[in-house]
Amino acid sequence: MHKIYVIPTPIGNLNDFTLRSIEILKSVKYLFCEDTKVTGKLKKYLNLDLQLISLHKFNEVSRISEIEKILIKDDIAIVSDAGTPTISDPGQKIIHYFKKMQVKIIPLPGANAITTALSGSGLEFSSFTFIGFLEKEESKINHEILKHLNSDVIICYESPNRINKTLFILNNRFGNIKVVIARELTKIYEEILYDNISNLIDKTFKGEIVLLIPTIEIKNESNNNLKEHIDKLKKLKIDNKSIINYLSTMKMFKKNDVYNYLKNSKY
Ligand code: SAM
Repeated sequence: MHKIYVIPTPIGNLNDFTLRSIEILKSVKYLFCEDTKVTGKLKKYLNLDLQLISLHKFNEVSRISEIEKILIKDDIAIVSDAGTPTISDPGQKIIHYFKKMQVKIIPLPGANAITTALSGSGLEFSSFTFIGFLEKEESKINHEILKHLNSDVIICYESPNRINKTLFILNNRFGNIKVVIARELTKIYEEILYDNISNLIDKTFKGEIVLLIPTIEIKNESNNNLKEHIDKLKKLKIDNKSIINYLSTMKMFKKNDVYNYLKNSKY
């Protein structure tokens, strides 16, 4: 069996092709791509002599037998419309299947919106969690964020139509925290904003967007909120046990956090 190359393509700036990816694209006869129209432009730009075959989420599984036949005599390459295949893009099912069949999979490093946004964000971090495109419902978004608070940064892909609503939802649940909006990366109107939600929420964002949420912002804001709640309840002379019960059930603070706060503060 021959090999499968997984090749990132630029997320905006065509100069972000790597020399190695061009070399491989020039050597393969079959290029599986998300959209033959989009990749057709790259084919023209790089003057490639190869056959484009569509590979998207609706035909990925049904392409397996065709790819199996090609691999007996030739290598193939997989690309998506932009960035790294398999990252919120087609490719996972094919690679999963052929990896199990012991076919050699050769992934190339290259353009990707997550790492580009993160490296230019100005955030300090030692861990991050990528959660793909956000859910649409408010409760699901909040649940998803709360699940990943152990990471330093939560990263998601966003659309210009939804970003303002997402900021509104985040503000509702987590307060006026600072977030990063990385927009149109590698393109002419590239913009990376790091600001409080109140300064971003009324802006119009065009183009492609990555949203980064530093979890330290949520944790700090939550501690401030907790202090505010406890101060109010203490003024009403409510005892510690009732405060813990009330805040953990009604205000969704963790029981342990309320307990520790009361224990470590003057109360
Ligand atoms: N596989 C791609 C990658 O490696 O980055 C991502 C594909 S996903 C279908 C497309 C989303 O990635 C966009 O909706 C946007 O959120 C993000 N994205 C892609 N290009 C971008 C860019 N130049 N600037 C900011 N975000 C981008």
